[in-house]
Amino acid sequence: MNKSTKSFFSNFLFLTLSLIFLFNSNTWGISKTIDKKQSINKTNSTTNAGAIVVKKWADDKKSAFSFSFDDAYVSQYINTRPILNQFGFKGTFFLLAGSIHDSVPEWRYGLWWQFLEMAQEGHEMAAHTMTHPHLRSMPVGDEQTPNTITYELYQSKILIEQKIGEKVISFAYPYTEHNAKVDNVTKKYFENGRAIGDVPNPSSLSGNAWYSLTSKQAEFNLPRNTPSDDLDELANYETFTQNSINNGQWTIFQGHEVLPFSEIAAALSQGSYLPISNQWLTALAQWIKNKSDNNDIWVETIGNVTRYIKERDNFTFNVVSSTANQIIISVNDGLDNTIYNYPLTTDIEVPNNWNNVTFTQDNVTKSLTTFTNNGVNYVRANVIPSGGNVTIQNSATLFTITSSAGSNGSITPLGVTSVNSGGSQAYTITPSSGYKIESITVDGNPETVTTNSGQTYTFTNVVVNHTISATFSVIQFTITSSAGSNGSITPLGVTSVNSGGSQAYTITPNTGYKIDSIKVDGTPVTVTTNSGQTYTFTNVTANHTITATFSVIQFTITSSAGSNG
Ligand SMILES: [Zn+2]
Repeated sequence: MNKSTKSFFSNFLFLTLSLIFLFNSNTWGISKTIDKKQSINKTNSTTNAGAIVVKKWADDKKSAFSFSFDDAYVSQYINTRPILNQFGFKGTFFLLAGSIHDSVPEWRYGLWWQFLEMAQEGHEMAAHTMTHPHLRSMPVGDEQTPNTITYELYQSKILIEQKIGEKVISFAYPYTEHNAKVDNVTKKYFENGRAIGDVPNPSSLSGNAWYSLTSKQAEFNLPRNTPSDDLDELANYETFTQNSINNGQWTIFQGHEVLPFSEIAAALSQGSYLPISNQWLTALAQWIKNKSDNNDIWVETIGNVTRYIKERDNFTFNVVSSTANQIIISVNDGLDNTIYNYPLTTDIEVPNNWNNVTFTQDNVTKSLTTFTNNGVNYVRANVIPSGGNVTIQNSATLFTITSSAGSNGSITPLGVTSVNSGGSQAYTITPSSGYKIESITVDGNPETVTTNSGQTYTFTNVVVNHTISATFSVIQFTITSSAGSNGSITPLGVTSVNSGGSQAYTITPNTGYKIDSIKVDGTPVTVTTNSGQTYTFTNVTANHTITATFSVIQFTITSSAGSNG
């Protein structure tokens, strides 16, 4: 391989890899996007208006992060809740349903009203069985038989749903222990199953992967005498999460009790598993918040990230109609609408001359401003796949100009035309052959006709509605006739003739006279019948003259006389 070939190939490889990286990092599923554009092109070859690109993560952030806390400790209400709320984060709480009571707490667990209150604040209440068993060693069983997998999962789900009043879709395996048998039961009742793992979750999951969600727990080396003894684990966690950001992945945090540092030692002595200090969780949450503000991390519950990924990966759209100022798009994801109703962050392609649009879906209307990326104009909007048709209306102030034309000519464009405020619109007025522009009327006032064979009129800086109309008339020419004395020409004088028309003249000498000459446009024509004849102009396209002269008829008398007289 010579040097230039080698250089070409290395450049080509670099460019190709760069493009692949660009597509992967900016847009989810570029191949899917191309498919959709192709399907639009079948019906509209000039534009992709209405094409929707779903962003990989909500708000176009680089990665996803979920806080989850297991077992339903009362400390989660007392300490975890205010720390998450301080930063505006919603967490997922895997409740050990059988150990939560209405009024008298069991051990370190919380009460139903506490978790109900958290649910009403937007935190996700999820299931973690009734009794925290080792599920792998249980039979599959059924919904009504205690000490079976099915009973543990089903009963915890319906108890939480009954107490909280919301659908429970997320599940965490006790001790993070699961196998195919456990997974199969989990699939019947939940949309995901949270386990544990050393790496974050990928941005796209399918099938069984939904029942092996990884989570990373904070693990603290002993001794834990002061809060600073836990700082090494804070650094570990930030490194782990930074890698998740860099790879566009989904980190699930797994925690249990959250306590003031001063209570950690006592909790450990009571068997509390990996308790986290308020100080530690606050420091992590602050770090996550900074990353979130920098668009690096999208923080959501496990249930809502599950919704986002599945809706995104199953999203389809169809442009129902696309006119100059409005696009209607149908959207779908083929999923259960009672569960999958989370808004997706999307970029929707709109015509290049749109600046502000009104976005409407499911009776929600928003005013949005467009942005341009690689020469394509988009609007970013939250679209719910189960939310019905999306309507995008160009909200620039529009005015109408109404045009009309009389017979024997045309005005283009004809009828009602919309013009943006401050915009321009030109009209071309063209008479039919043999006709001329007779009048142009703008907003009821006559305009000067400068070129009656056809002209243009332009409205500029349009800020009100307008009308324009034109009339046309036939083009006429004159023929001027005259006759000398002793004869006549009919018609005499100036006669108008339509363009292309004909006009006949009768030339008649007086008695005793004859036609002497006929001149048309100054040129003599042959006199064929000097006792009177007709001359006809045909296909008249210019002015003409015709004149006739007469002379006396003379006879010759030839006389002769004989001789002598
Ligand atoms: Zn647990």
